[in-house]
Amino acid sequence: LNHQVNNAKIPLQPHVLIFPLPFQGPVNCALKLAELLCLSGIHVTFLNTEHIHRPLLRHTQVVSRFNSYPNFRFETIPDGVEHEKPVSGDRFMEVMEAVDTVSRPLFREMMVSGSLSSRSDRPVTVMIPDACFSFAVDIALETSTPVVVFDTVSPCCLWTSYLNLPTLIQAGDVPFKGDDLDVLIKSVPGTEHIMRRRDLGSFCRTDDLSDPVIQLILKEARTAPQAQGFIINTFEDLDALILPHMKKLCPNIYPIGPLHSLHKARLMANTTLVSSETTLSNSVWKEDRTCLSWLDKHPPKTVLYVSIGSLATMTVNQLLEIWHGVVNSEKPFLWVRRPGSITGEYDESQIPVELLERTKEIGCIVDWAPQEDVLAHPAVGGFLTHSGWNSTIESIVEGVPMICWPYFVDQQVNSRFVGEVWKLGIDMKDTCDRLIVEKAVKDVMGTRRDMFIQCADGWANLAKESIAEMGSSSMSLSRLIDDIKVMSS
Ligand code: UDP
Repeated sequence: LNHQVNNAKIPLQPHVLIFPLPFQGPVNCALKLAELLCLSGIHVTFLNTEHIHRPLLRHTQVVSRFNSYPNFRFETIPDGVEHEKPVSGDRFMEVMEAVDTVSRPLFREMMVSGSLSSRSDRPVTVMIPDACFSFAVDIALETSTPVVVFDTVSPCCLWTSYLNLPTLIQAGDVPFKGDDLDVLIKSVPGTEHIMRRRDLGSFCRTDDLSDPVIQLILKEARTAPQAQGFIINTFEDLDALILPHMKKLCPNIYPIGPLHSLHKARLMANTTLVSSETTLSNSVWKEDRTCLSWLDKHPPKTVLYVSIGSLATMTVNQLLEIWHGVVNSEKPFLWVRRPGSITGEYDESQIPVELLERTKEIGCIVDWAPQEDVLAHPAVGGFLTHSGWNSTIESIVEGVPMICWPYFVDQQVNSRFVGEVWKLGIDMKDTCDRLIVEKAVKDVMGTRRDMFIQCADGWANLAKESIAEMGSSSMSLSRLIDDIKVMSS
């Protein structure tokens, strides 16, 4: 690529356009990637759709940290989504459809006319959209812009349920009705003895191939391998089972995970960028840090941390089953109850008095926690999680065993890998019963604790090695940076 000025060709400066999915998790990961690229001197334009940018802007510390980079710029694009707050997971398709209708044509116009570049002093040389934005890959190909996709879902789901969705359909494994969920899936290379129907991405639980989510993922499976590269948030050792297979379809993979650790390590190495007051979180909710002093009062590995992330919801009935199970396990617990995460009519009068009293004695409930710090706290000995990919990999880095209660998308796959591949905990999917919860907590933090801790320590060490100077993820990031420079020249 060259830039024509007065008939003289000037080599272009690398200028990456990052365009994440408009949800908290993907935006958070994409900002971390953006900051790593900025630190290496690459110019970054970060394109957010408007509805996710609004709450992010209220986090002045995050915005001012990014604004301190002369080579970083936020841009926004309308998406027609009116909500003032980030939307929950049940509205995923509503947002995706709005983006397709409103943002897609505007984005194409931006890229074809070069209007985005004209607002900056340099043209975009490489595009990094979320792999789910197939239209962005199409537009990159149309405008001959080099494109590397970034998918923030777990690679185990990306491989088994996204990239192999055409294979699953061809083999007759998908669609299926809600029954026979224990049928083994043998059509996906690498996971023949592991995955049952119930462990595939949640969208596979359909008997209708015209389902919009299935169509969206089929498009991704078609377009993403056409990109020049694929960035994923894992490390080579963790996904050794699937990466060799994935590389046959997408030869140029950059596993740069655990991204949050790599990001933290690089920022910490640059002391001018961080102080003890700096938050590295890009969270759109306000973190309640008082729970850290509550944790300080507990001995090592005794507290259960409970959170279902930023999108999942639970009914009042599910809340009560999990709550009873946790309290009956007698383990002290720190529970994040994100406002809006309980669906249906809910108020405290529905909660049995004994449960509330016992909670006052052994529990701490907050709206939103500084999760990375919570998981790193010595008092935490188990994580009851919805198995979101960020939560899973954050828990792996800190060596915290998990009790998995997956909600949707990749979480069904992640919880299976936690239980069967990485041996890091117990998968409770498709059940919500106080006795099962109580037993799972007692197993993970009691009877089978040593076995889980041993596995968890092993993975945590490998995670740390991967982001060390010559570690596989550090090397992947260097290769990505070098490749961006080459693609820009
Ligand atoms: N998180 C947090 N505080 C909380 C709960 C979650 O900071 O109280 C962060 C967590 O560290 C993770 C993200 O929110 O980075 C959740 O992402 P994940 O992929 O696990 O789930 P999602 O929210 O996308 O379903």
